Amino acid sequence: MTSRRRRAPAAVLFDRGGTLVIDVPYNGDPALVRTLPGARKALERLRSVGVRTGVVTNQSGVALGLVEPEGVRAVNARVEDLLGHFDTWQVCPHAPQDGCRCRKPKAGLILAACRQLGLAPHDVVVIGDLGRDMCAARRAGARGILVPSPATLRREILEAPTVAGDLWSAVTLALGPDMTHLAYLTTAADDSPSMGSAA
Ligand SMILES: [Mg+2]
Ligand SMILES: [Zn+2]
Repeated sequence: MTSRRRRAPAAVLFDRGGTLVIDVPYNGDPALVRTLPGARKALERLRSVGVRTGVVTNQSGVALGLVEPEGVRAVNARVEDLLGHFDTWQVCPHAPQDGCRCRKPKAGLILAACRQLGLAPHDVVVIGDLGRDMCAARRAGARGILVPSPATLRREILEAPTVAGDLWSAVTLALGPDMTHLAYLTTAADDSPSMGSAA
């Protein structure tokens, strides 16, 4: 725990709209799902080094009657078709005025994901595009990394604990120096059949 180098996280939880896919408010149509650049590679990189992945998403459109729960499920299934399997999905279907414990910026979705994965929040990184994602991470005791989208306010960028320009950079920051090195060595080994011979 007192190591100078930060350990790689056991899991990375992602916001959905504006982080993994282009935000389409209250979307219940899988055909409208468009992944953001680099999302698939960033997720494959995490999975390749044994880091689990999850999604934590506010879907107030369900409570507001703007999207059916089946529509949300269909969109989430499409996200998995495009980006691969996530180890946990946590969806808040409540409206802001419902006062639930799960809607970001509250910590509930992140805590539920941690419970399902059997992890302590301090072993988890949350990547999202809004201040509410960073706030939820902080309240849960997880580490937050902001990847700004067109919806991100300047104030949210200034207040974020860590900011990355894209998902790949965010994952690099999440993994830290040790795991980045390990991933590099794995890639190098895959590329060179004769490890014994000097270059
Ligand atoms: Mg978002
Ligand atoms: Zn909720």
